[in-house]
Amino acid sequence: MNIILLGAPFSGKGTVARKIVDDFGLIQISTGDLFRENIKNGTEVGLLAKTYMDKGELVPDSVTISMLKERISREDCKNGFILDGFPRSIPQAQELEKIAKIDAVIALDVPFDEIRRRCLGRRVCSKCGEIYNTSTYSESTCAKCGSPLFQRNDDNLETLNNRLEVYEKMTAPLINFYADRLNVVDGSVSPEATHMSVKKLLEGLKK
Ligand code: AMP
Repeated sequence: MNIILLGAPFSGKGTVARKIVDDFGLIQISTGDLFRENIKNGTEVGLLAKTYMDKGELVPDSVTISMLKERISREDCKNGFILDGFPRSIPQAQELEKIAKIDAVIALDVPFDEIRRRCLGRRVCSKCGEIYNTSTYSESTCAKCGSPLFQRNDDNLETLNNRLEVYEKMTAPLINFYADRLNVVDGSVSPEATHMSVKKLLEGLKK
């Protein structure tokens, strides 16, 4: 089963994807994580991506699509994957159609006010990538692996506003593009409740 998770920044795509991976034995592919890995390793792709990510803009399609294609072609994706953060534009979706069969698209629906509220509180584990929010978790280290938590460079209001604008203009049109495979889930509730809704939906689709 190959799945796409769609949603604005802070709609909870990463959190839900990580849980769904455990439920269904899928591979999670987050283009944002792949870019952050490249930045950490100081690669050419990382250096280029950083200039766009820091401003909340999309990394050019040519770079993003070839990185994604390489990742999807690996052996571990053969049994199914969940895409979190890709595609983010119609050209990306068109390219994806050429290389993979997408079984379901799940859009997480979260009002913009809630997104802004979530933005400033997000913390990420520097080692395992687990995601927390300061409103529900006040520790500075990860509950799973004990590593320090950090705030992402692009988690500030100025960048968020850009990211939301980019989302509306470039990514929201994908809702129509995938109308034949689209399932909308309320993502404004707790991560656990959102996870349960997505899990139920996928179990239904699997039958
Ligand atoms: P994310 O971790 O999904 O929120 O992505 C963080 C940033 O990485 C985005 O704001 C973009 O700058 C970049 N990025 C991630 N995925 C893509 C994509 N599919 N296309 C272009 N840029 C992307």
